[in-house]
Amino acid sequence: MHYLGKCLACSEKIQSLPAGNTYCYLHQQIFDSLIAEYKAVFDVYGSTSWQDFLLKKLAETEVSGLDVNKVIDAELKKIKTK
Ligand SMILES: [Zn+2]
Repeated sequence: MHYLGKCLACSEKIQSLPAGNTYCYLHQQIFDSLIAEYKAVFDVYGSTSWQDFLLKKLAETEVSGLDVNKVIDAELKKIKTK
């Protein structure tokens, strides 16, 4: 499922999504920080998949419904529908 102009993590509609972006400004920032963290983890361990990283991250997050969880859920859905 992919709607252009709609954030994958929340239902906020975005007038003009930059090419390749699937998140609103807030969730794009969270996504960028997840990517940065993933790269740091990958540099240390070398063999962590994006999916494993996200699942681990989700397990570490004790509170559900946070913005970071919404981004992780959206990313995991992307992987599953591939
Ligand atoms: Zn959003």
